[in-house]
Amino acid sequence: RTPDIECKLVVLGSGPGGYTAAFRAADLDVDTVLVERYASLGGVCLNVGCIPSKALLHAAAVIDEAEAMAAHGVTFGAPKLDLDKLRDFKTKVVGKLTGGLASMAKQRKVRTVQGVGTFVSPNEMEVQTAEGTKLLRFENAIIAAGSQAVRLLAFPWDDERIIDSTGALELKDVPKKLLVVGGGIIGLEMATVYSALGSEVTVVEFMDQLIPGADADLIKPLAQRLAKKLKGVHLKTKVVEAKATKKGIEVSYEGESIPETTVFDRVLVAVGRSPNGNKIGADKAGVAVTDRGFINVDTQMRTNVPHIYAIGDLVGQPMLAHKATHEARVAAEVVAGMKSYFDARVIPSVAFTDPEIAWVGVTEREAKEKGLKIGVGKFPWAASGRAIGIDRTEGFTKLIFDEETHRIVGAGIVGPHAGDLISELCLAIEMGAEAADIGLTIHPHPTLGESVGMAAEVYEGTITDLY
Ligand code: FAD
Repeated sequence: RTPDIECKLVVLGSGPGGYTAAFRAADLDVDTVLVERYASLGGVCLNVGCIPSKALLHAAAVIDEAEAMAAHGVTFGAPKLDLDKLRDFKTKVVGKLTGGLASMAKQRKVRTVQGVGTFVSPNEMEVQTAEGTKLLRFENAIIAAGSQAVRLLAFPWDDERIIDSTGALELKDVPKKLLVVGGGIIGLEMATVYSALGSEVTVVEFMDQLIPGADADLIKPLAQRLAKKLKGVHLKTKVVEAKATKKGIEVSYEGESIPETTVFDRVLVAVGRSPNGNKIGADKAGVAVTDRGFINVDTQMRTNVPHIYAIGDLVGQPMLAHKATHEARVAAEVVAGMKSYFDARVIPSVAFTDPEIAWVGVTEREAKEKGLKIGVGKFPWAASGRAIGIDRTEGFTKLIFDEETHRIVGAGIVGPHAGDLISELCLAIEMGAEAADIGLTIHPHPTLGESVGMAAEVYEGTITDLY
């Protein structure tokens, strides 16, 4: 059969991985086709992930800050919500970015095809479009088909009161009582939004810690604040059953900390994401997929089939947009004949909760498990002029150093803007900075960023008195 479309490179999926790969390849003169099932480019991150969640978290932060100022002599009225307008704000933020992608694709002459793509051979893909099935023949492929929310099968998903993160971001209403199943980053970000908007929020987490990937000390200030703001946070507990009734979604629990509330107006399930590796006909192309749906790749992002690459959420943890874009550039450059490979030392993680939690590199727990010899420099924000000035002294900055070389190997920050502050430490780790390099760097005063230099000085012993 003659193909309808021929190209040097097909990119399957237009999330942060896919669009970055397609644009980089086109910039390197590779004739590129981008296949995406939805009309809007940008994948999960732009449409139903990173971006809309941060727009809503901005609203939550403004509400919370206005409320907190009452204690310091500035009182605003109770917030009046116009949900349609708030939803419009979020939609416009998303539209600006996804619309930008469409014009960037055009500028670069990346051909976009809207439809569901499935491999039918190592060099062919069928795309189900609105105008019928199209056969696409390619020399190289980059798989960037991403991931989707895990659904707990025991839940009645046909009931619209059971939602995943996509449903939560739709912001259909502000439920009186909201149950969040899963105390990871996504569940807690959504809990933060809905609590600020007025929902009574209960969080249930199966593990013994919220955001299990981060060190326990970083979680503590967040857990303390959530304990005040939310109806309850219940660890080592799971929801075993959910029934749709007239009164609401009725749940039953098992575990060490059973919540009082059993009937909710909405239940948000945020228990993780599973990769889409099994849904793209990978076997027809000879690409190996693990039982869980991940595709293994080498440092050049090549799968077991040399001309087929994979990037982003479906090649493994951490499932984060900035990992996907980094991998995307590598894959595109390799397709274009460059000798690129993935050699980032670390990938930062951020929970945009209130306070924010950010960490990168080795954690203290990991160091202990692996028997690494580390030293820690910790600067409490209670000693930061800026943190005191914004009345947020619960935060701290923690740097983790190799005891032998004094080189920084990890860092964790909790407090407002932790997500912005962590970047300096990513660079420090990539550059192999020593504690003295960080401590002797002049940081502007008075900023939260100063805490980074101070934490290094605490480690070096040049600050001993945290007045
Ligand atoms: P995706 O973004 O999942 O894109 C895959 C694309 O492929 C989709 O558009 C899909 O429609 C398309 N596709 C799949 N199969 C096919 C097919 N067969 N045919 C055609 N098209 C197909 N990460 C961060 O770094 N920071 C954050 O703050 C953050 N917040 C998040 C908040 C939420 C609520 C969620 C859900 C996720 C968040 N993430 C965040 C994670 C981030 O969204 C993902 O890591 C990122 O989107 C992964 O990019 P990707 O390119 O691998 O895939």
